[in-house]
Amino acid sequence: MATIPDHPSLARIPPGYRQKLSPKAIELIAKVYDWVENECIPADHIVKAQLEQNRWAMPPYIRALREKAKAAGLFNLFLPNHFKESPGLTILEYSCCCEILGRVYWAPMTLNCHAPETGNIELLAKYGTEKQKEKWMKPLLDGEWSSAYSMTEPDVAASDATNISCRIRREGNEYVINGRKLYGNSLANEDVKFYILMGCSDPDNADPWKRHSTVIVPRDAPGLKMVRYMTIMGFDCAPEGHGEYVYENVRIPVENIILGEGRAFEIAQGRLGPGRIHHCMRLLGQGERAYEHALIRATDTRKKPRGKLIGEFDSNIERIADMRMELDALRLVVLNAAETMDLMGNVAGRYAIAQAKVMVPIGVAKVIDECMQLLGGQGLTQHTFLPEAWTYARFVRIADGPDAAHRHQVGRDQLKTAAQARLKHLGYKKRHHQLAKAWDMPVTELFEYVERIEKL
Ligand SMILES: Cc1cc2nc3c(=O)[nH]c(=O)nc-3n(C[C@H](O)[C@H](O)[C@H](O)COP(=O)(O)OP(=O)(O)OC[C@H]3O[C@@H](n4cnc5c(N)ncnc54)[C@H](O)[C@@H]3O)c2cc1C
Repeated sequence: MATIPDHPSLARIPPGYRQKLSPKAIELIAKVYDWVENECIPADHIVKAQLEQNRWAMPPYIRALREKAKAAGLFNLFLPNHFKESPGLTILEYSCCCEILGRVYWAPMTLNCHAPETGNIELLAKYGTEKQKEKWMKPLLDGEWSSAYSMTEPDVAASDATNISCRIRREGNEYVINGRKLYGNSLANEDVKFYILMGCSDPDNADPWKRHSTVIVPRDAPGLKMVRYMTIMGFDCAPEGHGEYVYENVRIPVENIILGEGRAFEIAQGRLGPGRIHHCMRLLGQGERAYEHALIRATDTRKKPRGKLIGEFDSNIERIADMRMELDALRLVVLNAAETMDLMGNVAGRYAIAQAKVMVPIGVAKVIDECMQLLGGQGLTQHTFLPEAWTYARFVRIADGPDAAHRHQVGRDQLKTAAQARLKHLGYKKRHHQLAKAWDMPVTELFEYVERIEKL
C-alpha cells in the first residue's frame, strides 16, 4: 500500500489528495498549521482589542507577525507555481494552507495571503508590464503597500460586468475617469496605495466584451473621493473597510492601463478563478472552527437541558453527523476545482470553480448557523467568533459574483450539452430496434420520448 503523508495539518485532506502534495508543500502546510494554532487563534482577542484603539490601521500584532512570516519564508504562498515570483505551491497545495488560514479571519493578512491583495498581485504578475510590476506589484509582494479592486457600481447590475459604466476616456497621454464605484478597500486605511479599476473605455464598440479596460489609479489622484464608509451586515470590516467612491475627472498616465484598451474581460476572468477558490477554502476553515465550538458545547457537562448533554439528544447527534459530512463533501468540491485549475487552467476550470463558489458559501453558512443554534444565545454574541464567520459565509454568496450569476453560467453551459444527450438517446432507440428484431420481440413504446426528440 502507498504511504500517505500524515500530520494534524492534513487530517481532513482525503488520502488521494494528500498523495499529490510535494514534500515542500507538506512542510509549508505544517508550518502554516503551527502558525495559525499558536500565533493566530490564541491572539484573536488581542487583535480585536488593538483594532478598538485604531480601526483603520493594521494592528501592531499583525504587523509584527508579517515581519516574522517574511523571515520564516511564509509570505505570499498563494501565488501559483507558474509565476516566477511564486514560492512554488500549486493551487491545490495552497488550498490546503488556505483552509488552515481561514480559521481566523485576519490570519491570511499575516502571510500577505488576503483578498484583494492576492487577486491584485496575481493580476499584475499575469498581465502587468515589467515596469508596472516593479512600480505597483513589488511593494504589494513585499507587504509594504495594500491595494483595492474597484469594479462594482451603485447604479448598474455588476454581476453582468458588461454593464459597468464608469467612463475611461483618453485625452493625449492621459486617461480621464468619471463615475461612481462601490466597494474596494477604504481610503481611510493609509496602506491602500492604489485602486485597480475596471471602466468603460469604448462604449460604442459592437462587441460588448471589448468595451472595457482595466487601469491603475493612485490613491492620491486628484478627483478621487471616498463619499462614505460601507458596513457589511453591520460589520465595518476594519482595518480594511469598504467605501463608496466618486471619480470626477481623475487623470492618470496612459502607462497605467493594464494589458491594453478593451481587454478588461480577459483580465477579470484570469483574476477571479483562484480568488474564488481561496474564499471557499477559507470558509471551510471557518466552518471547521465553528464545528469545534459545536462539539465542545454538545459535550459541556455544565449545561444539560432536561438533564442531558445536548450531544445526547438524537436530533443533535444527527446534526453533528450532517455538519461533518457537509464540510467533508464541500472540501472535495473545492479541492477538485483547485486541481482542475492546476491541470487545465482557470478558463477550463470554470465549471468546477462555479460549483465551489455556489455550493460552499451556502453549505458553510448552514453549518455555522447550526453551530450557533447548538451554542444557544452565546452563539450570537462576541463570546464566540460565530457571528463574524456566518457573515463571511453569507457575503461570499455575493462577493466575486452572486451565486445566481454562477448558476446561470453553469446552466447555460449545461444546456449546450443537450444536443449530445439527444444523439446518444437516438442511438439507444436505434440499438433497441436492432435488439428487438434480433430477439424477435416487439419494439417498446417506451422509446416514444425519442420520437418527440426527433421532431424537435
Ligand atoms: C463583502 C463584499 C466585498 C466586495 N468587494 C468588492 C471589491 O473589492 N470590489 C468590487 O468591485 N466589488 C466588490 N463587491 C461587490 C460584488 O462583487 C458585487 O456586489 C457582486 O458582483 C454583485 O453585483 P451587484 O451588487 O451589482 O448585484 P446585481 O448584479 O444587481 O445582482 C443582484 C441580484 O440579481 C440577481 N441576479 C443577477 N444575475 C442573475 C442571473 N444571471 N440569474 C438570476 N438572477 C440574477 C441575483 O439575485 C443577484 O444577487 C463586494 C461585495 C461584498 C458583499
